[in-house]
Amino acid sequence: MTSADQQALATIDLEAIAHNVGVVRECSPGVPIMAVVKADGYGHGAVRVARAMLAAGVREFGVCTLEEALELRGAGIAAPILSWLHSAGADFGPALAAGIELAIPTPAHLAGIVAAAQAVGTVAVVSVKVDTGLNRNGVTVQEWPELLARLVEAEAEGTVRVRGIFTHFARADEPDHPVIELQAERLRKIAAEARAAGLAPAVVHAANSAASLTRPDLAFDMVRPGIALYGLSPMPEVGDFGLRPVMRVSGRLVRVKKVAAGEGVSYGHTWTTPQDTVVGIVPLGYADGVPRVLSGKFDVLINGELRPAVGRVCMDQFVVDLGLETTAAPGDEAVLFGDPRRGEPHAQAWADQLGTIHYEVVTGIKGRVERHYLGGPEL
Ligand SMILES: *Cc1c(COP(=O)(O)O)cnc(C)c1O
Repeated sequence: MTSADQQALATIDLEAIAHNVGVVRECSPGVPIMAVVKADGYGHGAVRVARAMLAAGVREFGVCTLEEALELRGAGIAAPILSWLHSAGADFGPALAAGIELAIPTPAHLAGIVAAAQAVGTVAVVSVKVDTGLNRNGVTVQEWPELLARLVEAEAEGTVRVRGIFTHFARADEPDHPVIELQAERLRKIAAEARAAGLAPAVVHAANSAASLTRPDLAFDMVRPGIALYGLSPMPEVGDFGLRPVMRVSGRLVRVKKVAAGEGVSYGHTWTTPQDTVVGIVPLGYADGVPRVLSGKFDVLINGELRPAVGRVCMDQFVVDLGLETTAAPGDEAVLFGDPRRGEPHAQAWADQLGTIHYEVVTGIKGRVERHYLGGPEL
């Protein structure tokens, strides 16, 4: 099927990815970029966006799980890939065999990774994940001396090589918040202690999108942005930083019909036509990632005009009030969100209505929505 045949489409603009890589590079000049492509590339398709990012000059990738890392490697992506969320008892063998770099947040993880490296017959390349104040994953101040001693031992035995030390900020979207500096200082201290003990980490890194865009002084050896590369600002209230949204979600009207004044529309009749009107049916519903709580709270762009969604969002579809004068016809495209410079609603409009962040909006697109890629490198 071509994209014109698709009822529900997420169009992923790989040229926008390249543009966004350039924006991050301008904000944190001179440092390599590790692009975060966890959660299937924030819902954009990890392998395709990773290839576009590589072509745009990204050097490395960060993912959450071992499976995500193996998917990229299996697709032929040879660049360094760091995976950072796994239990100490995970099966590290396949990842080590595939040359995946593993984050180490506890001595127990190191033990599991050493055992797997011995079994595979390889040297595990690892990065220490440091908890400098997020209080989530990462080695704590209490565990650090033990982990450091064991890392030194493991390097001496030749089972492990410590390539990196990294942390994650809790409040990078508040660029002047003092906790950012506190976290950076703790990271510097840990890196210095590691070096004093004889380790030689090649890369220290901390900066997510917000820090990459606003705190070049905290870029260390590499920045590690995610959301900005997908064209969404980590600080929407500050500005868009010139980023271009990569994902555009649309559906084709499957039905256009007149409804008389005073009729209830969709389940529960939560909306009643104030006058005779024409409605259109858009074939995306909550099973596709259009949250039901958005019912009646968003607009779609149809033939250059914003029209309100009305009544309940159903599992498979929702209804738009097109107005009596509409020229819209079945097959016309309704854009749910995309790039405001084309007049399309922004994912942030959904986030505002939902009381969440646009990260959740783009990663929430699912179900029957087919991805279609524009531009970028050939497969
Ligand atoms: C998700 C994630 C990032 C990227 O965060 P953004 O806000 O999307 O830039 C960076 N580092 C870690 C450890 C993450 O989990």
